[in-house]
Amino acid sequence: MAAGKSHVKKVLSALRRDYAVAECALRHENPFQLLIATILSAQCTDERVNLVTKDLFAKYPGPHELANLPLSKLEQAIQSTGFFRNKAKNIQGCCQKLVAEHGGEVPRDLEALVKLPGVGRKTANVVLGTAFGDATGVVVDTHVTRLSNRLGLTTESDAVKIERDLMTQLPKKEWIMFSHRMIHHGRRVCNARKPLCAQCSFNSFCPRIGVENSA
Ligand code: SF4
Repeated sequence: MAAGKSHVKKVLSALRRDYAVAECALRHENPFQLLIATILSAQCTDERVNLVTKDLFAKYPGPHELANLPLSKLEQAIQSTGFFRNKAKNIQGCCQKLVAEHGGEVPRDLEALVKLPGVGRKTANVVLGTAFGDATGVVVDTHVTRLSNRLGLTTESDAVKIERDLMTQLPKKEWIMFSHRMIHHGRRVCNARKPLCAQCSFNSFCPRIGVENSA
């Protein structure tokens, strides 16, 4: 599915204007910390993840330390992020693989990243885009999914198909910041339950597809 080129341009310029500075909300100091924070962010708020990683990385700053941490201790440390048993297993497996196969470094490579436990295409795109500045794809999370549909950039609900639609329509140089900006707009204005359409600066060109309850 493809929106008109002029519509895509309007979306991009509105995003650039309203969110000139839009950064990843997950606090991190290096690619490894962003990788772990992104794994923890599944079904959890960024604020909660930031609270947990602050303590976690202070005690266990790198893959070597986390790879050797007993699973029960890791579970305890990340419990409040939800789905903690699964996340702990993935983080431990991921760190062990980083140590065993990548010299303790996060690989700057999509194929290698998605082979790590707990790392799918979305997480790999987050790490490559935000930590390395490599545009390998478009990060599609719940906000990007919702807004892309409302704005008429896709009709899909599956993240892989949405990403394909976005990669087709957006210039590659926009891929990284597009997601950051859409996430900010989704949080501040285009909320899931009651989007603030009357106050939204996209109002004049947004088709508001599927929006029934706006404020
Ligand atoms: S006009 Fe409404 S649906 Fe469209 S982006 Fe703004 S808040 Fe979202």
